[in-house]
Amino acid sequence: MINLQGKTAIVTGSARGIGAEIAVKLAQAGCNIVISDIDEQGARQMAEKIKSLGRDSLAIKADVSQMAQADGLIKQTVEKFGRVDILVNNAGITRDNLLMRMSEAEWDSVITVNLKGTFNCIKSVTRTMMKARSGKIINISSVVGVMGNAGQANYSASKAGVIGLTKSVAKEFGSRHIQVNAVAPGYIQTEMTKDLPEEAKKQFVTLIPLQRPGQAEDVANAVLFLASDLSDYITGQVLHVDGGMVM
Ligand code: NAP
Repeated sequence: MINLQGKTAIVTGSARGIGAEIAVKLAQAGCNIVISDIDEQGARQMAEKIKSLGRDSLAIKADVSQMAQADGLIKQTVEKFGRVDILVNNAGITRDNLLMRMSEAEWDSVITVNLKGTFNCIKSVTRTMMKARSGKIINISSVVGVMGNAGQANYSASKAGVIGLTKSVAKEFGSRHIQVNAVAPGYIQTEMTKDLPEEAKKQFVTLIPLQRPGQAEDVANAVLFLASDLSDYITGQVLHVDGGMVM
């Protein structure tokens, strides 16, 4: 049984989807949760849901792509809870297009939210976790960061970047007992994937040995493990949650 009683977690992009499910899983294990998102109303509703599970929760509107807002997120969390034990960098976006048609804006926005946003939040939490000499940082990458995907050059590059960032920071933070890992989900049924063409969805499933799309809960279970002391000797790793899509 995983027990995170008394710990505080920040989950970015947790107003809905995978982030919301991660927040619920961590709360069910006893953790207090900061729900952070650009969707303020959605974040407030999720924070209420966490409170209904008997945990303390705070909703903070923050755009992770802005360093000042990432700093504010950590500062407000420390003011309320006095600590940050777990940081889950989950906020992410897609702006899909074939490379030939991809605009500079489509490239920049995805790299800035997915990769720079992860850097911003890690950098902001560094001082707090270093002082505590403990912490768990979990970055949400993607299967396409490992295998690439036509029409997603920006997204694949950002998620591959998250893996490189994870490994480098794991090496830098190891001596302070801070573990840094990535989770690479495959095809998960959320708002992000709901508008994919039916043909593309069917094609994805043919690549999955377990023969089904994943659910947000499948990803949340992996994050829960990496957030717990069961993973204390694991750092710099990429845990694939993809039904076997990439081996
Ligand atoms: P989602 O349903 O689109 O949820 C993402 C959340 O992040 C939304 O609430 C969104 O707010 C928020 N967000 C967007 N930009 C933000 C920013 N700059 N700062 C803070 N919050 C921001 O996506 P999901 O499917 O749950 O995906 C969660 C993570 O898993 C992402 O990193 C994604 O790349 C990754 N992932 C997903 C899949 C999949 O199949 N679904 C597969 C692999 C990896 P708005 O609603 O206002 O935009």
